[in-house]
Amino acid sequence: MPPPPLPPEAFVDAITQAPSLRLDKADRDWSKLNPAFAQEVLRLVAKLKQRGFPMTLLEGYRSVERQNLLAGKGSHVTQAKGGESKHQYGLAVDLAPVRDGKVVISEKDAWAMQAYQALGEEAAAAGLTWGGKWSFKDYGHVERAGSLRQLVKK
Ligand SMILES: [Zn+2]
Repeated sequence: MPPPPLPPEAFVDAITQAPSLRLDKADRDWSKLNPAFAQEVLRLVAKLKQRGFPMTLLEGYRSVERQNLLAGKGSHVTQAKGGESKHQYGLAVDLAPVRDGKVVISEKDAWAMQAYQALGEEAAAAGLTWGGKWSFKDYGHVERAGSLRQLVKK
């Protein structure tokens, strides 16, 4: 079962800090994810909590329109156009650590970076792909492994 959503106040700092991500419009509905993938992510979140890093869903499903909107903000935001990201297929999530009831996304925050590193370790152990390993660092991003073409074909 997905955890209850955090109150909107929890996201205010993150939304303000990264305006180009338009996190105010991010979809955090677990039910829009691929059901099997959602279960894998929930297991990941439980592991992270055991390690002292409570995580929350920052963004899950992302429409083609929203992906294009973000892509239009530049390659520092995303390099994927609409239809090219696993977010459009419910096979990717962006997670973020929560401290004192607030979502922390700053890469300058040592604790948040520890949480992201732990996320990377647990994602690898679960056979999932972690965005922190990419040349374009996306520390909170976790997705189903494999090429999109292969995954969507089924
Ligand atoms: Zn992502």
